[in-house]
Amino acid sequence: MASLPGGLDYDLRMVDTCKVMKEPLRCFGCGSRQYETISRIAQGGAVTCVECVSEINLERDNSAVFASALSFVKSVRETPKHLSLGFHRGSQI
Ligand SMILES: [Zn+2]
Repeated sequence: MASLPGGLDYDLRMVDTCKVMKEPLRCFGCGSRQYETISRIAQGGAVTCVECVSEINLERDNSAVFASALSFVKSVRETPKHLSLGFHRGSQI
């Protein structure tokens, strides 16, 4: 593992975070909470409540969670790690 450049390790962890980290969504139909990944929340739209099968609207009913998920994904994508990663790989081979 020591041969892995630090940039590569960091980049993979950031990408995984969006798909692994979960935030609680509140269902206004039954009041229960369920967890969705940040990556899913940032897509927007609606998810189905596992308890009462009604739609949980991300933008309207969970605007705070939606906004934070969106800005998190945005900040990950805006990090120009992919460019430097390519250069590192090219120069090492
Ligand atoms: Zn519900």
